[in-house]
Amino acid sequence: MGTIALDELRAQVRGDVISSEDEGYEEARKVYNAMIDRRPAVVVRVANVGDVMAAVNFARESSLNLSIRGGGHSVPGFGTNDGGVVIDFSSMRGVRVDPVASTARAEGGATWGDFNTATHAFGLATTGGVVSTTGVAGLTLGGGIGYLTRGFGLSLDNLISADVVTADGRFLIASERDNEDLFWALRGGGGNFGVVTSFEFRLHPVKDIYGGPMFFELGEVGNILRFYREYIAGAPEQMGAFPAFQIAPPLPFIPEDRHGDTFIAIVACWAGPVEEGEKAFQPFHDVAPVVAEHVGPMPYPVLNSAFDALYPAGQLQHYWKASFVKELTDEAIAMHTEHGPQIPTVNSAMHIYPINGAAGRVAPDATAFAYRDANFATVIAGMWPEPGQNEANIAWVRNYYDAIAPHSEEGGYINFMSGDDQARIRANYKGNYDRLVGIKRTYDPDNLFHLNQNIAP
Ligand SMILES: Cc1cc2nc3c(=O)[nH]c(=O)nc-3n(C[C@H](O)[C@H](O)[C@H](O)COP(=O)(O)OP(=O)(O)OC[C@H]3O[C@@H](n4cnc5c(N)ncnc54)[C@H](O)[C@@H]3O)c2cc1C
Repeated sequence: MGTIALDELRAQVRGDVISSEDEGYEEARKVYNAMIDRRPAVVVRVANVGDVMAAVNFARESSLNLSIRGGGHSVPGFGTNDGGVVIDFSSMRGVRVDPVASTARAEGGATWGDFNTATHAFGLATTGGVVSTTGVAGLTLGGGIGYLTRGFGLSLDNLISADVVTADGRFLIASERDNEDLFWALRGGGGNFGVVTSFEFRLHPVKDIYGGPMFFELGEVGNILRFYREYIAGAPEQMGAFPAFQIAPPLPFIPEDRHGDTFIAIVACWAGPVEEGEKAFQPFHDVAPVVAEHVGPMPYPVLNSAFDALYPAGQLQHYWKASFVKELTDEAIAMHTEHGPQIPTVNSAMHIYPINGAAGRVAPDATAFAYRDANFATVIAGMWPEPGQNEANIAWVRNYYDAIAPHSEEGGYINFMSGDDQARIRANYKGNYDRLVGIKRTYDPDNLFHLNQNIAP
């Protein structure tokens, strides 16, 4: 890329334009997944919508690859590239709450931590993920699964409107009233359709919750999973709870002699009246003896950030696989019982998130997110510090995934997938895929936005 072209870009951009010659480039090129080592030609750390338009136009006119980076958590590392342009939203993290309308507007780089602390001050929240460091942008555009999904739907079900810069550099508002086809596609289609500069969400009254993790012996896996599938099918929708395989970290609430042991855990969040929390948790305490737990009343943002330390940015290698599940059959439970306990590192996890309840009542063609008839979204998340352990950890994820695949749906949640899952794109969207392709042809016929789980025009 010539100096003149870069100078022209700099002249148009209020934020930082960082090339390999500039201080800060080494940091600017990195993403959350330490396995990803790419060298973009330029990172545009945007300060406003005008900067986004300039960066989009620049990438398109220069025929360069373009990455969009919200919170940077993409497991395949779509938020950076070799030799192209990165739109980096890390300087645009503002969140404005309207407590009267119960809505909030988040800029494209806000994390769920930014969002939750802003809305919590008003006793409000909406569905986000289970850790606080993930970006609102990528998580919402792909779906948005977390503690509040059963009660309030996916994050994208709470999206009221989005400000978007399209591939031709235009600014559009997408909502039920404006550019409805684009709004439909954004809700599940990921970063395929434009650069979202801000998101407007519906909020709900959630302030303090009753929640936390409970650890059970591995011998109880079958019991716990069979209990969980029955329980969660009819549990009150204020209950968000998921089973997990987890190696015990060295935390004070876990007996010291059990640190490093593997457990089957249930992590739960009761978002109903806090004083009913203990009673709401009774079924978990009845199913099997709890070895260790850290549950109780707490502000919602505290639970949302409780596990952040297990997943430090830029220090772990990530390789994940995912599938949607309608029924957690005995055969599937047998596979979990075999592969879950082999979890290789304290950072890795297997979670079975419930997506029944409010998310399941939305029609499959109401948004691009098609798997409304699935009850669970399973993720096998391999996360480990040493690149030398890549082979063993990736093998654990693949073997586990292969074992549960026959008992799962063909498609999976796009936000939990790796770079080698592109062949499953059509399956992820089922009956919505052809409409998505049509909308892609309208808004991005040349596939400028292709560094994502790509819907090719
Ligand atoms: C530790 C960890 C925990 C997670 N927990 C959850 C969870 O609880 N629930 C859940 O649903 N998911 C979860 N995820 C998955 C998460 O939803 C995806 O990784 C998601 O892509 C992250 O969004 P981001 O903005 O942080 O990532 P980025 O890497 O910045 O973005 C990912 C992709 O989203 C698109 N994108 C990002 N910003 C924009 C924008 N402003 N406009 C248009 N497109 C954009 C781009 O295609 C980009 O490549 C988790 C991931 C990690 C690593």
